Amino acid sequence: MYTSEAVQYPSKTDIRTTNRILVVEDEELIRETIVLALEEEGYIAVAVADGRAALEYLSNSGPNSGETTFDLLVLDLMLPQINGLDICRLLRYQGNTIPILILSAKGSETDRVLGLEVGADDYLTKPFSMRELVARCRALLRRQRLTATPDPILEHKDITMYPQECRVLVRGEEVNLSPKEFRLLELFMSYTRRVWSREQLLDQVWGPDFVGDSKTVDVHIRWLREKLEQDPSRPEYIVTIRGFGYRFG
Ligand code: CA
Repeated sequence: MYTSEAVQYPSKTDIRTTNRILVVEDEELIRETIVLALEEEGYIAVAVADGRAALEYLSNSGPNSGETTFDLLVLDLMLPQINGLDICRLLRYQGNTIPILILSAKGSETDRVLGLEVGADDYLTKPFSMRELVARCRALLRRQRLTATPDPILEHKDITMYPQECRVLVRGEEVNLSPKEFRLLELFMSYTRRVWSREQLLDQVWGPDFVGDSKTVDVHIRWLREKLEQDPSRPEYIVTIRGFGYRFG
């Protein structure tokens, strides 16, 4: 027989601060090992074996919505039915901002970049240690807490962008950008110092269905430079990286 002292129920606050992690992995042994490792760390881990089940768990209107809000998604790339990249893409398209850690047997740069470009937050290549997985999960959850109130302003040197207001100030003066120029600049400012190829910029700003020449990118970069740079012939914001593409900052 238990007394009230003997049984310690978690308080409401405890329940809310316990992070819930959804694990999507079709290989049973890996799936169970991950769940055990996360539970040992004190997380609540729910595991599913395919993409469709994952989307059901994560969709707001799904049968499992309500009490099953997750703070992090651990997502295998190679899955039956719907693969990990498509799940990522779909969730982001739906406006779901859950942090995503991708797991993959593939380790090439292309897969990593692709994973991050479809909206994953981090990437772990198999085989990995459970210690590393737990550390990555912890880092993503911490980062999510820090960005819970996102700062909507992008700033770099003399350029300030207010993405939600579609406004850009350059050296204190408002400049008018076309939608494509705006989107280019927003992308650049979100990833300062990252080098983008023309194809990547076309894909991100014009979309994968755009039919045309990568010269389009050069033309828009020139227009953008004229609006941003003090001396467009010697740009300090949008720098050409010969043989690769462009970098901001
Ligand atoms: Ca797999």
